[in-house]
Amino acid sequence: MDFRFTPEQDAFRQEILGFIRQELPANIRGGDFPYSDKNFDATMAFRKKLGQKKWIGIGWPKEYGGLGATHMQQAIFHEEMVYANAPLDPQAYQVGPAIIAYGSDFLKKKFLAATASQELIWCQGFSEPNAGSDLANLQTSAVADGDDFIINGQKIWTSLGHKATWIHVLVRTDPKAQKHKGISYFVVDMQSPGVTIRPLVNMADLHEFNEVFFTNVRVPRQNMIGELNAGWYVAMTTLENERSGARDLGNCRRMLDEVLRIYQSTKGHPGIRHDAVARHRLAEMAIELAVTRQLANRISWMHEHKAPMTREPSIVKMFGTDLQQRITQLGMQVQGLYGQARHGSPRAFEDGIVSHEYLHAVSTPISAGSNEVQRNIIATRGLGLPRG
Ligand SMILES: Cc1cc2nc3c(=O)[nH]c(=O)nc-3n(C[C@H](O)[C@H](O)[C@H](O)COP(=O)(O)OP(=O)(O)OC[C@H]3O[C@@H](n4cnc5c(N)ncnc54)[C@H](O)[C@@H]3O)c2cc1C
Repeated sequence: MDFRFTPEQDAFRQEILGFIRQELPANIRGGDFPYSDKNFDATMAFRKKLGQKKWIGIGWPKEYGGLGATHMQQAIFHEEMVYANAPLDPQAYQVGPAIIAYGSDFLKKKFLAATASQELIWCQGFSEPNAGSDLANLQTSAVADGDDFIINGQKIWTSLGHKATWIHVLVRTDPKAQKHKGISYFVVDMQSPGVTIRPLVNMADLHEFNEVFFTNVRVPRQNMIGELNAGWYVAMTTLENERSGARDLGNCRRMLDEVLRIYQSTKGHPGIRHDAVARHRLAEMAIELAVTRQLANRISWMHEHKAPMTREPSIVKMFGTDLQQRITQLGMQVQGLYGQARHGSPRAFEDGIVSHEYLHAVSTPISAGSNEVQRNIIATRGLGLPRG
């Protein structure tokens, strides 16, 4: 295994860094939420520029409007973009490959170029109140009606559903079949009659999540990705693209730099912890960041060399997202009571960025498959232990 980047890969990283310096608004780079009403237009303008560089479909084949980038290039792209807090289109890296692998010509023509250029905005409608880790338990139904299906049910935790124009959604089309085998996968226009949205504001005070309700929503059969009742297997393609060590690496790097900035800029400040224990903990975090880097690079290398993977994506997901919590917890300890000061407070250090990240990091071990589920995967697929 050789983890050195090639000169071409180093040059690609420099191109990305130059693009970020030039195109990403400074306030978003500084940690401002890209999807607030205030920032939304600038965020979409940035995403459209990513589209012009063919970086929305960075890993898609060129014939579908992608860049056809290698796995290493994709990892470099994601690490640097996430480090800079750049707003990407996470759905393009998920539903795009599913349409490429299983979609009809109609779906490919209608959605791939429009996604790559960011004319449409996707959200993901998988989770339900009783279907998260046990996703195959989903109950939202779709019943055939001529050339259409009629959808009824509820989705939850739909990130950016209130900004999206289309949703890719898993529904039950055969309630009598075994639970994995009665599921189909559709794309639905969010403007369809019968789609309603209710906001869920998270503990960091951000409106990212939503509940999405479907009441007799009519969707044409041609909007189905893959075969009837075979949606589960298509969705696995979607989810495989959700776990990226490179994104966790970018987040950990950014968070540790933020804590270090506060530590250094507050030297001598009363109430701020500058003792040996804090210094040692920061050193430990630096070591754990180096471990995350190795784990993430290993995933890209294995992808690149088509090496079979079992536990590796789960290991980096678990380690990287838990590390985000450890870093931000340390950031709060270093700040002492000042850690309670939030964005906009004159007492906040770096405009409360670490306090914000601390609250936000609570959710990362849950998203993209909870870390307990990752531990199960490592135990069964990695260590060969029995299930349950
Ligand atoms: C930031 C974020 C963004 C998200 N965005 C989206 C989105 O856009 N679209 C979407 O559809 N969903 C989204 N989700 C939802 C996400 O997929 C679910 O939260 C996740 O799958 C967990 O499901 P749950 O919340 O129902 O928890 P549950 O599955 O109910 O789990 C509750 C607890 O039990 C544990 N647990 C469950 N099963 C087991 C088991 N077998 N062994 C051991 N422990 C177990 C879990 O680890 C967890 O701690 C998002 C979630 C987050 C946090």
